[in-house]
Amino acid sequence: MRIIPISLPTPFYIGPVNVYLVAEDPITIIDTGPKTKEAAEALRAGLRKAGFLISDIRRIVLTHAHEDHCGLARSLRDEAKNAEVFVHEWETGHRAGRLEYAEHRHVLVRAGVPAGEIEGMRRMYEGVRQYADSFDDHEYSPLWDEGELEFASGALRIVHTPGHTPGSCSFVREADRTIIAGDCVLKRVTPNPVLSPDPIDASRRFPSLSEYLVSLARLRSFAPTLVHGGHGDPVGDYEELFNRYVRAIDERQGQVIGLIPRDGTTAWEVSRAMFPQTDDVHRFLAVSEAVAHLDLAHSGGKIALEVAGEKEVYRQLSS
Ligand SMILES: [Zn+2]
Ligand SMILES: [Zn+2]
Repeated sequence: MRIIPISLPTPFYIGPVNVYLVAEDPITIIDTGPKTKEAAEALRAGLRKAGFLISDIRRIVLTHAHEDHCGLARSLRDEAKNAEVFVHEWETGHRAGRLEYAEHRHVLVRAGVPAGEIEGMRRMYEGVRQYADSFDDHEYSPLWDEGELEFASGALRIVHTPGHTPGSCSFVREADRTIIAGDCVLKRVTPNPVLSPDPIDASRRFPSLSEYLVSLARLRSFAPTLVHGGHGDPVGDYEELFNRYVRAIDERQGQVIGLIPRDGTTAWEVSRAMFPQTDDVHRFLAVSEAVAHLDLAHSGGKIALEVAGEKEVYRQLSS
């Protein structure tokens, strides 16, 4: 099974995105890049170099529905005629701007984000939305945990690896223990556990960081030889990266707990104390990070949480 990485430019801070061509019947592309002329051209060139045209693609598989990964899905599908699009049903970003939903506003309000900041985040996502086309429910096929994507000579096992987003999926080739992991595994940065409503009960938050730790351990159980991430170089030593991630998460957790004053604070205030310099999109990512760590600390019995009006207030445990 030939898996060919193709790097595409993005207009985002993270830099280029990796998409993966599985050059075997049915010809499959895993992730698509953002909806920009530059990415579309680079994808066309990458396919051509491998001996394929967009019209050869039969399956479009999305690791998750962030714009840098799913943006071109609709136009590829239309150009490839009859290509089928696959994504986990817990991913909603591909259908509409993530902050359009009342639930998204609700999780931000509960995190203590001021109304003016929420409005700023909404406007920012209006800008980001142009980099992806939306899909209706009937336009994609769901990816199932433990399902398989079959090819002429083998299969990729679908592993649901939530954390970065609720519906993130990885694809394991068991013959040589290589994995395509999207933004679940990135060589140089610890992926952000993005603040999301729980897809099962939108009145709750998705426990992104505790789910993420389970996903990392699950990938580890395959003893991968090579992990292809959504950005940057592939990871040859997953064990080392796994331990580094766990240490980084532990350290950040200690730091976050240390930022909680005696009389309590919100996730928003913790995020501003952690990252005072951040602006625009990074404020959203900073509050995501703070919530994720506070939730993990709370579920581990290390801090207290109470609801005060619309907001949640975290406190040190009284001794
Ligand atoms: Zn992502
Ligand atoms: Zn990404």
